[in-house]
Amino acid sequence: MLVLLDSYRQVLQQLGQALWGLLYPPFCLHCGERVENARFPLCPACQQQLHRVPKSEALHRLHQLPAAVGCFRAAHALWYYAPKQPLERLHHALKYGNRPTYGLHLGQIMGKTFSPLLQETIDVILPIPLHRGRYLARGYNQSAWLAYGVGDVLGRPVMPKLLQRLRATRSQTHLSRSERQANVAGAFRAPMPDLLRGRHILLVDDLLTTGATATAAAHALHAARVASVTLLTLGLAH
Ligand SMILES: [Zn+2]
Repeated sequence: MLVLLDSYRQVLQQLGQALWGLLYPPFCLHCGERVENARFPLCPACQQQLHRVPKSEALHRLHQLPAAVGCFRAAHALWYYAPKQPLERLHHALKYGNRPTYGLHLGQIMGKTFSPLLQETIDVILPIPLHRGRYLARGYNQSAWLAYGVGDVLGRPVMPKLLQRLRATRSQTHLSRSERQANVAGAFRAPMPDLLRGRHILLVDDLLTTGATATAAAHALHAARVASVTLLTLGLAH
């Protein structure tokens, strides 16, 4: 299965590179300036507006949620995420704009940034899955593309089939912290626990908001008796 996933990924990457220049005009998604790198469509001025999240901030956010305490070995988020900011534009294109390949490059940036903290401590990378219905509607899982970028840099396998989302959960956007927790509790399961037992897992997601989704996923992984769960996200919502 690993070999199949790997070759599938390589084919996708080659196809993506070949079509890239045709599909994506190289303009900044935020201000419209021309950009050099179509794989990362923010101009230098807008890139300056991407602000790194301090080291302990993601874990601190998770620990606002009682159910998350003790669930994560570590947590890292790359940039702050706020409405109308460059990262929101990029994330919107990645998630809703049928631009999954942006995720590969962003995932590589995540991997390079956090490689010193992750390299020795990770066995397997799992993206937070979408429910099958949502996956079919969107056609891709943006977090899986981020995970493949991270996996490229860390040299670790990305195994999306080892974590499943059992039910579609309603949008979390307008829910309180406790409502979010109830909304996603029990939404995940690890269908092949033998492949996870004793492994150190890196969970990859696009955004960390309250952490309710990542915590529900981590509970499913701990039920499969993994050794540890570390969370890595592209953005930390303000
Ligand atoms: Zn710009």
